[in-house]
Amino acid sequence: MIHSRPSDPVRWRRDFPLLSQRVHGQPLIYLDNAATTQKPRVVIEAISRFYKTSNANVHRGSHALSAQATTAFEQARTTLANWLGIDDPACLIWTRGTTEAINLVAQSWGRNQLRADDLILLQQSSHHANIVPWQMLAETVGARIEVIPLQPDGDLDLDAYRLLLQKQPKLIALSHVSNALGTRYPIEQLCRLGRDAGAVTLVDGAQALPHFDIDLTRLGCDFYAFSGHKLFGPSGIGALWGRRELLEQMPPWQGGGEMIRDVSFSGTTYADLPFRFEAGTPNIEGAIGLAAAIEYLQQQDRTAMERHEQTLLQHARDCCSQLKGFRELPFGSDRVSLLSFELEGFHQQDVAHWLDRHGIAIRAGHHCAMPLMRSLGLPGSLRASFAFYNRLDEAEQLASCLDQLIQSQT
Ligand code: PLP
Repeated sequence: MIHSRPSDPVRWRRDFPLLSQRVHGQPLIYLDNAATTQKPRVVIEAISRFYKTSNANVHRGSHALSAQATTAFEQARTTLANWLGIDDPACLIWTRGTTEAINLVAQSWGRNQLRADDLILLQQSSHHANIVPWQMLAETVGARIEVIPLQPDGDLDLDAYRLLLQKQPKLIALSHVSNALGTRYPIEQLCRLGRDAGAVTLVDGAQALPHFDIDLTRLGCDFYAFSGHKLFGPSGIGALWGRRELLEQMPPWQGGGEMIRDVSFSGTTYADLPFRFEAGTPNIEGAIGLAAAIEYLQQQDRTAMERHEQTLLQHARDCCSQLKGFRELPFGSDRVSLLSFELEGFHQQDVAHWLDRHGIAIRAGHHCAMPLMRSLGLPGSLRASFAFYNRLDEAEQLASCLDQLIQSQT
């Protein structure tokens, strides 16, 4: 039986129907939020309402339903733009998620702007989504890649970064928050230094927006990518924001319907922003569902959410640090509510399976950050990632279940 405490997020939990279910006969403790977050009822209802009342294709219909769907779809873009502090929604392009957003920049901006021997800077702790597209681009155009290392404590090595900037990189691909360590990087400073060195900066915000609000006009990057499903919204939808002057120089990367102005066999002209980057029928219900998630977040006290998440993280650390063989991965001086650790003497997958049998969902493995894990000399880690709807006793259950496993082996 789980008892709530005064500081527990009872009112938030009520909004998430999935959290009340049982797994393997135990109450679910969902600590895999960095992989994907659960959805509030308003998101599920917004998608369902769209299918029940407004389903039609967008932008080209000449009937009422299509006009209704188009209005809702474009209103969703405006909702996101306002939330991110952007006054030009046309610079917000719908994608399938962070991965597609980064590939869009690599394939469109990168192929067009980078030449042989140009330098791309990547970050040691980046997700594969912010590494592989750049490697594919580098192979195509003959560009070089260098890596911004981490310090032993997990913070980004600023001195090494400054030295790399002297080599005049053309593009710097940064992570706002590491999905494997939880570290929050000083992105304003990194972008400013990058910009001063003449580079274009792209920031992967997939793990940032679920934890705190941002103002894109103040961040100082040139591109920002994120995914809806990590942000309490639906899967298969995300976005790329880019500076208008860069987006306007970029050729389309996928061709088809929706992205054209005129097509003939002698040549095609392309639509204006943002449609030139949105070939084909978009994920209409995904955009509407994501806007519902953002509206939900806007109605909450995000500072209180952040405070609760930090309390959760500290409580989980306090409970787990008592365990024999528990060792945290280096996480730097600032991080979101994510605990990445090893349990000496245990295989990570065995630990994850043990926890799963007790209803606790965490992630084990390299977390799509193999270069980081290699630099740490580890095959991977155990990752408990918290959201604002997690309770303090869930952190305790995690520690006590790990303790049972340790005791069973001694
Ligand atoms: N970047 C980071 C930091 C992530 O954590 C993830 C997903 O785990 C991605 C990129 C890729 O996101 P998606 O699979 O939604 O495109």
